[in-house]
Amino acid sequence: MSVATVEQPAWLEWIRPWYPAGQVGHIFADCPDLLGQMPAPVEGAGWLDPFKGPVCGECVKRAGIPSWQAECDTCCASMAEEWADHSAPFTKADAELWRDEHRCQPSVRLIEPYDTRKNR
Ligand SMILES: [Zn+2]
Ligand SMILES: [Zn+2]
Repeated sequence: MSVATVEQPAWLEWIRPWYPAGQVGHIFADCPDLLGQMPAPVEGAGWLDPFKGPVCGECVKRAGIPSWQAECDTCCASMAEEWADHSAPFTKADAELWRDEHRCQPSVRLIEPYDTRKNR
C-alpha cells in the first residue's frame, strides 16, 4: 500500500470549477447559466469532481462527461427528462434507482455511458 502525494489531480477526472461561491459548479467560464448569475465568474479554488456535484448539467453535457441513461420501452419515459434537474452526471447507481422507482420497471433499459475518452 502506498500513500500517493497528489499535487494535481488527473485532468480527465477533475476539473477546475467556475462558480458563484457556494453554489453549483460550472466547468465552462462562458456557460450561459453561469453568466446569467454572474457576469464575471471567478475560478474556484481547488478542484471539482464532476461525479460528486453539484455540477451544472449543461456544462456536464458540453464537456462530454460520460453519463448513464435509462429509458422505458413501454411508456417512452426517460431518466434524462424526468430527472432533468439532477445536477451531476448520472452514475450506474442512479440509473438503477430510476429503473427501480419507475412504474413499468421491467421494461426499463439501462444505457451505458459512451466514454469519448476511451473510444478515441
Ligand atoms: Zn454551466
Ligand atoms: Zn414506463
